[in-house]
Amino acid sequence: MSTPASYYSYSPSKYYLERGELIKQGAEAKVFALSSLFPTPRIYNPSSSPSSSSSSSTSSSSNKGVIVKYRFPKRYRHPSLDASLTASRLTFEARSLARAARYGVTVPRVLWVDEKGGCIGLEKVQGWSVREVLGGGAEGEMEYQDEEEIELDIDTNDDERDVDVQGEGEVEEGNEGWDKLKQLGVGRDHLMRSIGSALAKLHLTTIIHGDLTTSNMMIRLTPDNKSHPYEIVLIDFGLSSTAQFPENYAVDLYVLERAFASTHPRSEKLYAGVLEAYAKGLGEKKWKPIETKLKEVRKRGRKRDMTG
Ligand code: AMP
Repeated sequence: MSTPASYYSYSPSKYYLERGELIKQGAEAKVFALSSLFPTPRIYNPSSSPSSSSSSSTSSSSNKGVIVKYRFPKRYRHPSLDASLTASRLTFEARSLARAARYGVTVPRVLWVDEKGGCIGLEKVQGWSVREVLGGGAEGEMEYQDEEEIELDIDTNDDERDVDVQGEGEVEEGNEGWDKLKQLGVGRDHLMRSIGSALAKLHLTTIIHGDLTTSNMMIRLTPDNKSHPYEIVLIDFGLSSTAQFPENYAVDLYVLERAFASTHPRSEKLYAGVLEAYAKGLGEKKWKPIETKLKEVRKRGRKRDMTG
């Protein structure tokens, strides 16, 4: 069955794609941000001059930002295969997000899924990525360094790394997210534990994220919650799946461990805090087999680094 020529020509998401600001161009998708789901209405004020109509939002919810992820057509794929792959990935991403939310994992709300147009609309999380807060490179830089380099950073460069790792909680200046957290009395240990708890919550739903990096975790302030003034919001479920075995969870954790190592030179201590909270959140019985697998996965990772 061939795909109609008009397959991609009409999309209800087109409105947003045309008006959004491109914030990321990946190999699979483009990500756009908009300040609001609704167009800003022009309100006519009869008491003022006819020319002075003013713009105003109708409700506070319409002020919330929107993210539109557009899985554009891949010309190298057969059009009907491409269309069905795009549709199934979008549907899976939306299902994972809905399932995670149902089990109390903090994720962006799904606003719409436009399978034919290749788009998913999501609530825009107002905050900072963990990567930004930990003082990693700018968004869009390579998440991973050459794998051998990661090993070298950890093993040999301790003395040169004191610039941003002097004891606990020292992060470069001029970091808005970090400054806000500091004002709230939140240190790095606390942040690491929150990440570990968020991951445990996610894995308890049997969802594997598939691309855990410090860019895919956001920190959002929760000013109304006095006991926990911020939350970790997990984003980008485009590669998520459902776990069958402890190894699946271990690989998810290992991917994040490597991401930490590339974002932060002396990451072992930080990551140990993540794992501690993760283990606690999961419970001893579930954690033990995952811990065993994680050790195996690390060993395999090291071996691969050495053999290339
Ligand atoms: P993704 O391809 O989903 O990883 O998105 C690329 C980038 O867009 C992320 O690293 C974030 O900076 C940003 N982003 C994606 N989804 C959201 C969201 N729901 N809220 C805020 N920013 C987002």
